[in-house]
Amino acid sequence: MTESEPAGRQRSESLCAQPTDDERSFHLYVFPAEARDLHAEIMDVIGRLGMGPVRTAALKGEVNARMKAAASGRLRGADELEPVRTQPELWEIKWKEKKNVQLRLYHAEPGRSPDLVALHFHCKDVSDQDRIKERQEAAMQVAADRHYEGAPRVWGHRKRDCRHCL
Ligand SMILES: [Zn+2]
Repeated sequence: MTESEPAGRQRSESLCAQPTDDERSFHLYVFPAEARDLHAEIMDVIGRLGMGPVRTAALKGEVNARMKAAASGRLRGADELEPVRTQPELWEIKWKEKKNVQLRLYHAEPGRSPDLVALHFHCKDVSDQDRIKERQEAAMQVAADRHYEGAPRVWGHRKRDCRHCL
C-alpha cells in the first residue's frame, strides 16, 4: 500500500481522530539493547535538515505538539493523518515544512498499553521523482519490521510510569 491507496480504511478509524479527554499512551519505540527511543530519531532527522537553530527548535515543538494532538484524538485532515499499510496496520502522521521537506511518522495502534506506538520517523525522500514510491515503501518497511520485532517486548513499553511514552 502507498499513500495514494488508503488501504481500505478511513481516517476516522484511527484513535488519532477519535477525541478523548482520557489520556491515551503514545509510546516511542525503544531500540533493542539501547537506551535510545524514537525521540532520538526524531531529533536526528530534524537536526539533519540544516534549517538553523530557531526553525529547528520550532519544528521539534510542532512535531511534539502534533503527536500530543494525535494522542488525544484531535487529528482531522488528510494533511495530518493517513491510513497507510494493513500488514501490519500502520498510520502516518505528516508535516509539510516545504515541498522537499515533508516529515512522516509511522505508528501502530495496539489499542491499550500502549494505545499508540510510534515506530519510524523520517523525511520523505523526494529527490528522485521516479523513486518516491519505492523509497516510501522502504520507509514503511522499517516501521513494519520494528513493529514485528518489538511486539513480543511491547516495544520497550512499561505499563506504569513508562519513560518512553509522550
Ligand atoms: Zn511507553
